[in-house]
Amino acid sequence: VSRLASGEFAAHAVLLYGAPGSGKGELARLLAQAWLCLSPGPEGADGTCRACGSFERGNSPDLLRIAPQGPSAIIAVKTITNDKQKPDDPTPLIEFFRTLPLGSRNRVAIIEDAHRMNGDASNALLKTLEEPHPHAKLVLTTDSVSGVLPTILSRCLAVACEVPPVEALRAQFPEATEDDLRMAENAPGRLRAILGNPIPYRRLAAFGRGLTSRKPGEALVAAEELRSISDALDGVLKCGARAANTEVLSMLAAFLARDPNSPAEWAQYVAEAHRRIVGNGSPGLVFDALLSRILLRR
Ligand SMILES: [Zn+2]
Repeated sequence: VSRLASGEFAAHAVLLYGAPGSGKGELARLLAQAWLCLSPGPEGADGTCRACGSFERGNSPDLLRIAPQGPSAIIAVKTITNDKQKPDDPTPLIEFFRTLPLGSRNRVAIIEDAHRMNGDASNALLKTLEEPHPHAKLVLTTDSVSGVLPTILSRCLAVACEVPPVEALRAQFPEATEDDLRMAENAPGRLRAILGNPIPYRRLAAFGRGLTSRKPGEALVAAEELRSISDALDGVLKCGARAANTEVLSMLAAFLARDPNSPAEWAQYVAEAHRRIVGNGSPGLVFDALLSRILLRR
């Protein structure tokens, strides 16, 4: 990344990927500033020029930030092209790149959570990746590479951001339990989120551990309990029922995958249920089917 920042290594689109807390957001910021900076050095931006000044004040006319919006947390096509734009909508990416830099070396766009682009937005973005303007630089970040269209991936320089080893996390977060660490999958950002609202997450870990001692006849009761944990999570995160359901399932999958007493296929069943919820499946039916599947094959 420092070779990209100094200009020694040229790329017009970079994808930074890694788990939450792996530092990709900060790295995106550093790279964006280096690309905007009027006189970057071997370490990136000089921090003193006019472009750096407006970047640090947060009003650079040459920086565009795009992030998921709305209750479904989607990056809509109107953020990329003029199609379906309303009068008050911010400048779309394609328009932004059409203009020459106003006070910086490049025009830079950061797309956060790039896996949240819908199909139309991804296809519109491909056009700018195929015919880039020489002054246009793009930084994408994601914690889910598999959610990014392969045609977009193939046109970006992908940089992996790694999470620290578990010993470092134990030292940094002494209050974290082994269950918390299992659910966080060693990602500091995820661990911070769990420790911010530990009660529903610890209920979920207890639920996961208790599955091995449940009887097949308890499937519907267990499904109801999982729904109530999801409601509790929605209550503290205020993220909406669907987001709480997907969060509960991804954390449960992470827990079961690392729990030595749980059969290996359970985490896989939970991951499949997660995909069905993401694909708009009815949460009630998906949870019931999941718990029946787990407890019947125990
Ligand atoms: Zn500068």
